[in-house]
Amino acid sequence: MLAAGRAASLGADVILLERMRQVGRKIRISGKGRCNITNTLASGEFIKHFGKGGRFLRQSFARFFSEDLLELLHSEDLPTKVERGGRVFPQSDSAVDVAKTLEKWVENLGVEVIRGVRVRGLDVAEGRISGLHYDLFSENGTKGSGGLRGAHSLEAAVVLLATGGMSYISTGSSGDGYRLVEDLGHTIIKPRPSLVPLCAPGAPPPGVRRLALRNIEATLWIEGKLARREFGDLTFIETGLSGPIILELSRIAVAALDEGKKLELAIDLKPALDRKKLDARLIRDLENKELRTWQDLLSGLLPKGLIPVALRACDAAEDTPCHQINAKQRKTLLNFLKDYRFKLSGYGSFKEAIVTAGGVDTAEVNPKTMESKLVPGLYIIGELLNVDADTGGFNMMGAFSTGWVGGQAAASELHPDNPEV
Ligand SMILES: Cc1cc2nc3c(=O)[nH]c(=O)nc-3n(C[C@H](O)[C@H](O)[C@H](O)COP(=O)(O)OP(=O)(O)OC[C@H]3O[C@@H](n4cnc5c(N)ncnc54)[C@H](O)[C@@H]3O)c2cc1C
Repeated sequence: MLAAGRAASLGADVILLERMRQVGRKIRISGKGRCNITNTLASGEFIKHFGKGGRFLRQSFARFFSEDLLELLHSEDLPTKVERGGRVFPQSDSAVDVAKTLEKWVENLGVEVIRGVRVRGLDVAEGRISGLHYDLFSENGTKGSGGLRGAHSLEAAVVLLATGGMSYISTGSSGDGYRLVEDLGHTIIKPRPSLVPLCAPGAPPPGVRRLALRNIEATLWIEGKLARREFGDLTFIETGLSGPIILELSRIAVAALDEGKKLELAIDLKPALDRKKLDARLIRDLENKELRTWQDLLSGLLPKGLIPVALRACDAAEDTPCHQINAKQRKTLLNFLKDYRFKLSGYGSFKEAIVTAGGVDTAEVNPKTMESKLVPGLYIIGELLNVDADTGGFNMMGAFSTGWVGGQAAASELHPDNPEV
């Protein structure tokens, strides 16, 4: 939408083809229905959240960054607010408002939006893009809309491809873009789920189906080396580990698991107290006459759902009197509280992944314009590219920015005399 709108605003005649019956389906479900649009971090810090892929985005962000996006949204009557960590959300807390605002903006600029059209192939003539061919949502066109029913190809001077990755297929992104550009000779870095739950034997612990742990610290160890540490919330889910800090850690965990490395996750359930202080507290608690049993002791230390797990780890019964707890059991409990470990064995599927890592090799795309270096007239933007980031509004901004820059460059190719481009 950003690409189509920007190109149209500069005088290009633009058709936006969308496979689904609605544009911006992913925006509508983003940020748990609130859409974390972007982040207020300065560009240097912002780019760090993309890891190695960030370098490619430097020039896009120099042309269209968070303040430009917010100016656009505000001018379209979508007020925004900033929350913890610089995360920007619509004032209304409604992701649907963001999608509708962009859709209206695009249509007001004269873009012809045609829904229910699935692009199947890109056409090349004399070494440059010449158009594309497509299927209608249903062959007789009943579910398609717009003026294209019955026709199956379109001529185009330029094509901007923004088909996204292959996560949350129900939103329309099923990896079509990879095949479309591979057919034209582009290299695809193997797509993999990112910002995704992780799996480990023992997670969730027996007897637990879903349990949220708040304000804990999780450390990811790769081949015995500390790879990354995150503080925040973690959730045991039926298939393993999830929650904000697991999603963050998954970015490096998935890549390392794919490389066959050994990964461990260590959970510190009491990050505010170091081992010495926590041990002193345990000793104090054990001397406290009001805490009579293990159950009483653990109730003050752990969420209810984790008490049976701690009891099993310490080989103790809930009604064992505190005065019978020996030094070895206290040490085991201390270890459980400070270093609850899991050997990571895998990760969730694309269905559960917030983004797709991997994608079109950015070495084959011009970072100033998003134009393919292999096929003139083809522009590749958004999550389809081999760039992905942490949570916090960075992924969406990467898509918005490359879209805007691609739209502008495409318009300038079509109208080289337009002084605005
Ligand atoms: C549950 C969830 C929550 C998220 N929350 C956030 C968040 O709060 N903040 C954030 O920054 N990021 C978030 N993300 C990530 C962010 O939504 C994506 O990175 C971003 O939408 C990518 O934009 P895109 O335009 O490249 O691709 P997409 O948004 O995936 O759009 C691709 C479009 O292309 C269409 N398409 C695909 N193939 C074809 C074809 N062959 N023919 C025609 N049309 C086709 C699809 O239907 C789709 O509409 C979230 C993702 C998910 C899944």
